Amino acid sequence: MDKLIVLLDADDTLLDFAKSEKEAIVKTLKEFNVPVSDKIVQRYVEINLHCWKLLETGQITRVYLDRLRFDLLFEEFGIKDKDTVAAGATYRAHLTESGYVIDGCVEFLDKISKRYRLFLVTNGTQPTQIVRLKSAGIDGYFEDMFFSEQIGCAKPYAGFFDYVFSHIDGLDKSRVVLAGDSLTSDILGANNAGITGIWFNPKGQTLSGTAKPDYTVRGYEELEKLLDEIDKMKTDK
Ligand SMILES: [Mg+2]
Repeated sequence: MDKLIVLLDADDTLLDFAKSEKEAIVKTLKEFNVPVSDKIVQRYVEINLHCWKLLETGQITRVYLDRLRFDLLFEEFGIKDKDTVAAGATYRAHLTESGYVIDGCVEFLDKISKRYRLFLVTNGTQPTQIVRLKSAGIDGYFEDMFFSEQIGCAKPYAGFFDYVFSHIDGLDKSRVVLAGDSLTSDILGANNAGITGIWFNPKGQTLSGTAKPDYTVRGYEELEKLLDEIDKMKTDK
């Protein structure tokens, strides 16, 4: 029987995005002589999330996202005469430098990579994500990595998954699962693609929206056990 194919999201599923994000925004604000406060950092996080939702729903492009988050942030804080395109680029450079994994991630990947075929599926940009994965020391666990920017279509759209499926040798769609933290990109994506969706939900967030996770896990130990169960179930079928 073919090995189970496990698609894994990167940010907040394997990588500790919040930690990298905070580090990158603080450095960027300092370089642009913008006073750093908890409030502006917090608003950046919220604005960034809002911008990513716009991208996920096809309302803005990936390139525009980089500057839009600074346009919105600086406008809100009355900061004038700053080059928001440059701020976007500086932020991206700092984000690229920092790759932190969620506790237990390396051990988890180490174990499941011996049993299953692992693929990375991310809406992050390729150069940024590759450097972050490398600096986090987890890039070697994946048979291949898929980046929405290069595909020209993002999760949750079926086009993203069509591309992924056509680039995995010996793919049997009934033996593909996706694990990720985002309901709007990962789980909805799994639903659209007709594969098993596992919601990685360590913070215990409430289910909302139209996405329907097949399973929900709170951490790596639970996810590892679940993958073994799914593998057994799909093999017994
Ligand atoms: Mg994520």
